[in-house]
Amino acid sequence: MTSKRDQMVTQRPRSESVGRGTASPSSWGFGDGQAVPWEYAPAPESRDVVKLQARYGLFVGGKEVAPRSGQWFTTIDPATEEPLAEVAKAGLADVEDAVAVARRAFRRSWGGMPGRERAKYLFRIARILQERSREFAVLETLDTGKPIKESRDVDIPLVAAHFWYYAGWADKLDYAFPGRTAQPLGVAAQIIPWNFPLLMLAWKIAPALAAGNTVVLKPASPTPLSALLFADVCRQADLPPGVVNIITGPGEIGLALVKHPDVDKVAFTGSTAVGKEIGRAIAGQGKALTLELGGKAANIVFDDAPLDQAIEGIVNGIFFNQGEVCCAGSRLLVQESIAEPLIEKLKDRLATLRVGDPLDKNTDVGAINNAAQLAKIEALIEAGVAEGAELYQPACELPARGYFVRPTLFTNVAQSHRIAQEEIFGPVLAVLTFRTPDEAVEKANNTPYGLSAGIWTEKGSRILKMAKELRAGVVWGNTFNRFDPTSPFGGYKESGFGREGGLHGLLAYVRLEDR
Ligand code: NDP
Repeated sequence: MTSKRDQMVTQRPRSESVGRGTASPSSWGFGDGQAVPWEYAPAPESRDVVKLQARYGLFVGGKEVAPRSGQWFTTIDPATEEPLAEVAKAGLADVEDAVAVARRAFRRSWGGMPGRERAKYLFRIARILQERSREFAVLETLDTGKPIKESRDVDIPLVAAHFWYYAGWADKLDYAFPGRTAQPLGVAAQIIPWNFPLLMLAWKIAPALAAGNTVVLKPASPTPLSALLFADVCRQADLPPGVVNIITGPGEIGLALVKHPDVDKVAFTGSTAVGKEIGRAIAGQGKALTLELGGKAANIVFDDAPLDQAIEGIVNGIFFNQGEVCCAGSRLLVQESIAEPLIEKLKDRLATLRVGDPLDKNTDVGAINNAAQLAKIEALIEAGVAEGAELYQPACELPARGYFVRPTLFTNVAQSHRIAQEEIFGPVLAVLTFRTPDEAVEKANNTPYGLSAGIWTEKGSRILKMAKELRAGVVWGNTFNRFDPTSPFGGYKESGFGREGGLHGLLAYVRLEDR
């Protein structure tokens, strides 16, 4: 599969324009597209902090139960392709049980509990998550393939922050929505993807519980383990049984869950195709719905931008989490006058990225989450080459096993190319140029998606003007991929609707009544 690309890498002539030969190296990398000539000492995080069970059941009614379907599936480590554990494959009867238990918990305990009492549980969960953060970080890295430095420094701290934040709102709903009374919706069905498993769980469960709802959550099949460890946190926090239920299983189970007549609210994060299917399936049922779907964000760099900072923002924008990020800055729009030096610096920086063992603390780019996703990324890289874009990949060695792909940069990209149109969901950056701010806005908005965008310029007024013109739910100025529980996140157009985070995120889980 990779042979064509490997050939391109090995046969790629040393670039004339970038390299040690130039008068001043453009960054601390070597600038010749080659890997740094020394090897870092291995710095592996210990796996011992995680005690994996051989088998994980469903979490229904506060306890681990075997699936009524009697079936199980295997979750693997994408960095080694080795099995990690067996996980319950829920069937329709399990969905029935989970929804019934969630309804009972809503009626009997959680729905009527004073906010200050609910808050105590959420604060407890946040504290336990912090106490067990190392265990969660290692488990998340094992199951997703993301670098340990990201799960340790980004995912898990943000997970705890979401629970802290929404715990604070649980007893203040009257202040959140002045003059109105906020009532919980009831039972929430929540479906999450594999790119940020625990963080997406937190985005969904924390506001739902703060507002008084109970939940049935279905994790993505490639990454169920951190949600199942979260079940243990719920037990440790003495959360009343049935308030949080976690059922693992295939997409059909997710569909059965969202269609269930006793579900009041549906929250989904994942692909646009499945989001549309869910929208169609529950149309007319009167359920509240939020969809957080794909993206094809433009990261726009003007000629007055601080270039070295912009380089770090571009790298973070597309190589964070191997580019498997719905809001990834996958289209780089560069003002024409600085395109050459910027691309030179970018290639230079790419050569310093360390791709490999996700558990190594020095790794920048880990494993792609699953074989299907790797095949999709490789197919789109092939398509970019076939359509005439110019490929650049640093000559880093990839591990012999596991789902790895080199950080990839495409120049000479046309708007019509698939790599400029489709969500790749991988470490692949397509570079386009523009001359004027209007052209930048037009190109940035020329996508069916509208989740995020970045603007790099020294002019604050330009950032504010462009932020208004860009059809994107989140616009970052001189930064990228910054997340905060207090700040709403969500999309326009085919990136979905509804917001998660902040007060907007709470609003999605309440019914407001006049006082
Ligand atoms: P999906 O949208 O298929 O999966 C997301 C979640 O939905 C998973 O829990 C999945 O379960 C579940 N699901 C799948 N089919 C259905 C259904 N018919 N009804 C209800 N739930 C369903 O994403 P993929 O994993 O297939 O990834 C495909 C592409 O989607 C990626 O290449 C990427 O472009 C995009 N994507 C976008 C994400 C985002 O954050 N916006 C996240 C993940 C992917 P199961 O895992 O069991 O199939």
